[in-house]
Amino acid sequence: MNRSLAEAYPDAHCELDFTTPLELAVATILSAQCTDRRVNEVTPALFAAYPDAAAYAGADRHELEQLIRPTGFFRNKTTSLIGLGTAVVERFDGELPSTLAELVRLPGIGRKTANVILGDAFGVPGITVDTHFGRLVQRWGWTALTDPVKIEHAIGELIPRREWTLLSHRVIFHGRRVCHSRRPACGACLLARSCPSYGVGAVDPEQAARLVKGVEAPRLLRLAGLGDDLAAEAATTAKPVEPGGPTPSETPVAPRAAEPAASAATDESGPSGAAR
Ligand code: SF4
Repeated sequence: MNRSLAEAYPDAHCELDFTTPLELAVATILSAQCTDRRVNEVTPALFAAYPDAAAYAGADRHELEQLIRPTGFFRNKTTSLIGLGTAVVERFDGELPSTLAELVRLPGIGRKTANVILGDAFGVPGITVDTHFGRLVQRWGWTALTDPVKIEHAIGELIPRREWTLLSHRVIFHGRRVCHSRRPACGACLLARSCPSYGVGAVDPEQAARLVKGVEAPRLLRLAGLGDDLAAEAATTAKPVEPGGPTPSETPVAPRAAEPAASAATDESGPSGAAR
């Protein structure tokens, strides 16, 4: 299944715009209970006005609130950003740290956010368990666990460590485009033959094809074995993917992924063929 996902989503990536680790940390904080698209609309002006940690530390609270207001929960997020800037200046000489243990002790950054930063800004493999990731790995039978940290550990044992970051993006991409929470497109899913939950969503090919979202819809339908007629229809009718979305609350815990002893599991034969 992992290999099928890699074929389906060769360009899977973080959908937040950033150029530095600090910018990604800020964008990820803003993405809580907000779409990535909305965050990406706000951050160009924000990053121009607040170019470094010291700028956030010395921010005028009202001005910062107004800049990030469109992302929702702006008062709490302002508190987090000012706290983040202050902590990074005071404890890390203005540079965002690059270990899970240090990141999760910063204001506004829990384990999920830290793994996003590690994977996408520092190149340190990390598994990001958001609402899509948790839902899909349960549907695939990769784990029955529901706690995000336990899911992270369980999947880390199934998938080689070097693939953790890309796996996270691919699973989240599939969750946003095909395996939706309420109306999964089982009948148009490239994983149908190996998915133990096939049938939880629409299985009629035509009905399911209309549930597949995004510009990749025609290609995804062909990978699922559907005909050119449905793929052609999807090219003009597929709904756009809404990047991001509600994020589960952070769960700060003891560090794991960035530790030297973190699992570098190479087993590629997990339940339901996780690495197939
Ligand atoms: S077959 Fe259905 S439940 Fe399984 S991954 Fe595809 S859409 Fe999700």
